Parts: sequence; structure tokens; C-alpha cells
Amino acid sequence: MLEDIIQLDKKYYMNTFGSRLPVCFEKGEGMKLFDDKGNTYYDFLGGIAVNALGHGHKDFIAALKNQLDKVIHTSSLYYIENQAKLAQKMVQLSCAERVFFCNSGAEANEGAIKLAKIYYYKKGMEKNEIISLDKSFHGRTVATVAATGQEKYQKPYRGLTRGFIQVKPNDFEELKNAVTDNTAAIMIELIQGESGVYPMDKEYVEKIRQLCDEKDIMLIFDEVQTGMGRTGYLFASEMYGVEPDIFTCAKALGGGIPIGAVCARKKAADAFEPGDHGTTFGGNPFSTAAGLAVFDIYEKEGLPENAKSMGEYFAGKLNALKEKSGGKITEIRSAGLLIGIQLKDEIAKAVFNALFEKGFLTSLCGGNTIRVAPPLIIKEKDIDLFVENLENILKEL
Ligand SMILES: *Cc1c(COP(=O)(O)O)cnc(C)c1O
Repeated sequence: MLEDIIQLDKKYYMNTFGSRLPVCFEKGEGMKLFDDKGNTYYDFLGGIAVNALGHGHKDFIAALKNQLDKVIHTSSLYYIENQAKLAQKMVQLSCAERVFFCNSGAEANEGAIKLAKIYYYKKGMEKNEIISLDKSFHGRTVATVAATGQEKYQKPYRGLTRGFIQVKPNDFEELKNAVTDNTAAIMIELIQGESGVYPMDKEYVEKIRQLCDEKDIMLIFDEVQTGMGRTGYLFASEMYGVEPDIFTCAKALGGGIPIGAVCARKKAADAFEPGDHGTTFGGNPFSTAAGLAVFDIYEKEGLPENAKSMGEYFAGKLNALKEKSGGKITEIRSAGLLIGIQLKDEIAKAVFNALFEKGFLTSLCGGNTIRVAPPLIIKEKDIDLFVENLENILKEL
């Protein structure tokens, strides 16, 4: 029973998530989740951009079961077939030439930061500053929180890891002025997800690439959320036509099984030599089997392509709704199936709650924006249902 679970949680779990939404899911199928009372929910958040395959995908479950019957974990002391093959896959499909697997987005970003630093260290250079952006989100570890340009996440941990500074997004002059001889890396999300789906301008990103080339700075793209087909491209860097030196990936990579990846051009990647970095769990036979199955299913079902066409369809419908919303929807920001529906401040929370009441799972970001990041298997009829319900909710407010 939900009440019992809430009691247990309150008593034994650290209070990091406070009062959560009052539901506990028992089963999932495609776009749907079911609670213990048999209520149906439509998953328009996909476990925060994780469940790209939806829930209970048959081929995915079969691949996981197959691997469970063989071996789950062996350690990095030995060669791992799935790990090598998943690295090969990611290199074939991106600008990366080498890959390292870990367990989460934050850990992937830690790896990227370490790689940028050690690259200059091995060249005998003292570069140890990292520039990131205001409103960014890079994770909750000690270093990634220092890279995350949001006061609320940093404040209690003052005395943060040194060397991190943040500048205003989409302001190239400010970024350029922040660069010093000590700048090792510029680290950005191409579309800021957690703070409310804010895309970077193409020209801004192109200029950053140029600046990094001129000043010998590592360019890191955090594609933890934008990667794996979310934007209609396998990686958002393709949409921008700009290649980073290092990029990170996690969320959807394992289809719900925890795995992250640090991906890099060879020049950068070669800075890691035996002993410089490591992991116990990262890239074990099970999580990399999950990653391989995800890529397999992406190819069979054309999921990044579906994200592109469904994303356009979704944004089209939302923009039409915005036009007739009488100012209740103030802006639609989107790339593929990463969508921000910005609402009038006063009604945002009520709209989010009403969507939940009607069984639509989303998240409220940046105070006034509903973030939608559904499974990439989504169909037109799911989108129609969502927009229809949103329209009814807006009418009542
Ligand atoms: C979610 C997210 C992270 C953190 O990933 P975890 O797996 O929670 O550590 C980092 N960067 C971006 C852009 C994210 O969206």
C-alpha cells in the first residue's frame, strides 16, 4: 500500500526528495505506468529522459535476461566483450574515438573534467580552470556541483572545488572575457535541460569551438540529457554541426540500467594512461549489454528519426495551442522530444498538478516550465491525448 511505503520512506530514507508525488508504480508497458491501485499514467517524462524505449520493451528485456543468465559483473581487471563492443558502437556513431564507461551522468562529467585537466598536466601546462554556464546542470558530486551554475545546488557546499566559474549563456563576449591562460575546458549543455529546456544559439556554439581551437582549450559537451536520440539526432552536437573534444552521455544510454560514458577524440583520450582513472562497476557486462540492446533497438525501430518527426508534430501542436491559450502558454522551446512548455508564472504549478491528476507525468523546471521528455517510441495518438488534456486544463484555469 502506498501509505505504508510513504511511512517507510519517511522513517528510513534520507529526506533528499521531500514529499514526492503520491504514487508508486508497479508495472510499466510502453508509454504507460500502472500504480498498485490499477490507475494508468502516461509517462511523458520517461524517468527524466532515461526510458527512451518506454517500459517493458520485449527485445530489451530479452537481452537483459540473456545477459543475466551468463554473467553480471567481472571487474575491470579482465577484458569485457560487451564493453569493447559498446565502445566500438559509440565511436562508429559519433565524433568520439575512445570511450570510458561509468555509472551515471555526474560520474561521466567527473571523468570529462579529469580528462581535460590531465591532458594539460601531461603537456606540462598548469591549466586547471573550467568555465561552465549559469543555469546549467552537470550533476551532484562535489566537482560537478561546482560546475553547475545554480545557487541552490551550490550554496550549502561552499568551499566548492576550486577552479570553476560560470558565465551567462549565449553571451560570447562574456565567455571570451572569462578565458585566461589557465582555462582548461569550457563545459556546456547544448540545450540546458534541468533548468527548463534552454537551447544555445548555433552561432554561439560555433564561436566557442573556434575560441577553444585558438586558445588550446578542451570543449566538453554534456550530452547526458540531450544525447541518445533525444533531440532527433543521436547526439545534439550533430544538430549544431560542432564537434567537441570530449562529450558525456548517460540517462538513456542504458534504457534504465545505470551507465554513463566519457567519449573523446583520441588526442584528448590518450591523456588517460593506466592508473589515471578507473571504476569498479562502470561498463560491466550487464550494463553494457543494456547499452548494446538500446543501440540495437534504436536501429531496428529508427528511434532517433521517430524522435525527430514526433518532436516536430508535438511542437507544432503545442505552438498551435499556445496561439489560442490567451497568453497562458508563454513559450514553447524544443528540440526533438526534449520540450519545454513555459507557462504564465502564476499557473505553472497548477498546470503541472492538474496534468498529474489526469495521469500525465511531466516535470516542473525553472519555476514556470513543464518539461516533457517522453520515451522515443511515442506515437501521434499519445501526443494528441496529452495536448487535448493540456488544452482542457488550461481552459479551466
Ligand atoms: C541528469 C543530468 C546529469 C546528472 O546525471 P546523474 O546520472 O543524475 O548523475 C548531468 N548533466 C545533465 C545535463 C543532466 O541532465
